[in-house]
Amino acid sequence: MNRFEELGVRPKVARSMEKLGWTEPTPIQEMGIPIGISGKDLFGQAPTGTGKTGAFASVVLSRIPAGSDIPSCLILVPTRELAAQVTKVVIALSENTKHRVLAVYGGTRYDRQIRFLEDGCDIVVGTPSRIIDLVDRQALHLEAARELVVDEADRMMDMGFSDDLLKIVGYLPSKRHSMMFSATVSEETDDLVERIMNDPSRVSLESQDEEEPLTRQYFVETPRKEKIEFLRTIISNGNPKTMVFCSTKAMVDSLYETLSQDELKVGAIHGEMPQIRREKTLRGFRNDRMQILISTDVAARGIDVDNVECVINYDAPLNPEDYVHRVGRVGRAGREGTAVTFVTPKETFRIRKYEEYTGVGIEKVPHKKVKSLHVSNQELKELHGETKPAEGGTRPSTGPVKGIEFGTVSIDMGKKNGIDRNDIVKFVVKHAGISDDRIGHIGMSSDRSFIDIDETCIREAMGRMQKRKLKGHPVKVETAPSKKKDKDKKKRYRGGSIVAFSTCRIIYPTRDILRCR
Ligand code: AMP
Repeated sequence: MNRFEELGVRPKVARSMEKLGWTEPTPIQEMGIPIGISGKDLFGQAPTGTGKTGAFASVVLSRIPAGSDIPSCLILVPTRELAAQVTKVVIALSENTKHRVLAVYGGTRYDRQIRFLEDGCDIVVGTPSRIIDLVDRQALHLEAARELVVDEADRMMDMGFSDDLLKIVGYLPSKRHSMMFSATVSEETDDLVERIMNDPSRVSLESQDEEEPLTRQYFVETPRKEKIEFLRTIISNGNPKTMVFCSTKAMVDSLYETLSQDELKVGAIHGEMPQIRREKTLRGFRNDRMQILISTDVAARGIDVDNVECVINYDAPLNPEDYVHRVGRVGRAGREGTAVTFVTPKETFRIRKYEEYTGVGIEKVPHKKVKSLHVSNQELKELHGETKPAEGGTRPSTGPVKGIEFGTVSIDMGKKNGIDRNDIVKFVVKHAGISDDRIGHIGMSSDRSFIDIDETCIREAMGRMQKRKLKGHPVKVETAPSKKKDKDKKKRYRGGSIVAFSTCRIIYPTRDILRCR
């Protein structure tokens, strides 16, 4: 029995997982697969790069028969690229089970998809608009789809797919099994969970991470017209494999022309490009025929390239969620990476927003140091040693104070009570009577918060905080499940073939940032 079979995966599927070189489950797989296989609804808070596709694909393939006339499973994703990528994984894992899998998304031909559906199909992976379109044409029948997966639910909401999604769920049987994954949790995702799921088990990777961030994050303050020179400097220094993000299609095109004239190996993708061209460019980037890929946010969703070394936000993203998704292109599968954001002097306030959202310090790189911004790890460390903390008091996160064992307590207040991590730190310091360096990571959901506190003083701290008021509300403090087991688990992954899955690069200890503000 291999490790996946032990979690309940069908042997035929487990063998395919092994064939992909997966010998140990990732944390989201270890936690999510048994829940999914048992038939309980599952909500997983997990960003890309954690192995969530393998988690839901193996569950679905273990639960539904092959050879049906109409689909037994629908997997909804926000973008074409993600649809293609998820389909690839599902097909690879169904090699022995012979499930028939179809990807449906815009920019591809209808006739082939309709023929495939007529011949019988078990699993459909697709974007909301094309799915509605095919249902309207009576080519796709979803009344037997008793397995539903919603991937990247937060992104789906951001892209305005809420109504489409609910419409599609209305086509499905009401007695079904649903799994939903999202990198972030918000009121909107909570609302969606409420509407389409049945008392799901929640699995969150957010509060487990106590590792050093794998991605170093920097920003360069520069007038718009000087950005190009800084970009040239960074990409010519060590030739990192780089993704460059722009906010508009026009900017992608213009940058592509400029860099092509520099005779760099560069490709560009944006939403208005024909799908075939986008896929060809992506293949070129994945196979290292191109060093640089310029992209808009939408086009970059779901791109599965593990060895990107550097992300450059040529245009600073408007919202922190996009920042997280862009920066998530590096630091995948245990590799280190660098993210550099260009901001014009008027945009520097955005950096603070990203920091607040991610809980990670973003270090300012002075102009004369940009040439040292080389993504080879060694040189980066040197740069770290040289640079001073950014103006405004930010500095890179250094992780929890070494040597402290943390336990976790939970309180019955979260984001919807109008509190943030700063309020929690102040509350703990004031009422528990401990200094802020005894406080580790703070995870927050809409109605609860999880606080890591030095284990040696946690009991006393809990007693002192019990029923103390925070924003007028008497706080109920409880012990949260210990993370020690998870830490041990991680060590095991590190030593095995997975090598340090960065289970969550989004939320890191906030203490370092809070302390210096
Ligand atoms: P995902 O989060 O689904 O995009 O997966 C991220 C990457 O992890 C992909 O390249 C997968 O092929 C890889 N992966 C998924 N599960 C495992 C596993 N158990 N062991 C090793 N690699 C994995």
